[in-house]
Amino acid sequence: MLKIGIDIDGVLTDEGPDHDNIWLQKMNNYFDKQIKKVEDTYQLAEAYGLQNEELNAFLEDELANIYREARPAIDACETLKELKAKNAELILITARNKEFKELTLNWLNEHDFPFDELHHNKDKAPLAVKKGIELFIEDNQSNALEISQNQIPVLVVNKYHNKNLKENNKIKRVNNWQEIRKHIFALSVDTVSNKFF
Ligand SMILES: [Mg+2]
Repeated sequence: MLKIGIDIDGVLTDEGPDHDNIWLQKMNNYFDKQIKKVEDTYQLAEAYGLQNEELNAFLEDELANIYREARPAIDACETLKELKAKNAELILITARNKEFKELTLNWLNEHDFPFDELHHNKDKAPLAVKKGIELFIEDNQSNALEISQNQIPVLVVNKYHNKNLKENNKIKRVNNWQEIRKHIFALSVDTVSNKFF
């Protein structure tokens, strides 16, 4: 039974294109000015040229709305259902604060995502090891790197903030869930078929 670790934001959610993502849309409304991405980093204040105080006020008011209104990534739900039907174990690990657990569960249920466990944990690599996760799907560059350094293969969903992460035998880049699906099923046939499915 393949144990798959899955991130939520930017992996199960579709945040939209770089130039018009849900964060930018909310920031533009909130600050009532045209916000632009100035740095290719995961750190929101640096990425969008905001003061930390501005960002904190924004997140305080808007983070729950962003989580609540996020669209599911195309084909994500269908792929998870297909994996579930093959007895894969789906372990969701998000860095979202625990205070958003109920909101996150509601969102997952509302969009009909199947999963076995949901963990709110910023330190993903040790948990992935502890859980015996055999494949991880992630978009955060440092998480992906650290998980891969623990010998767990990672499918990295392409984003502006992870473009410096290089592929290697534990890191593969993907653009969408069709590609994720292809990788997982190729894995299951090519190398680990007897063990997993
Ligand atoms: Mg993410």
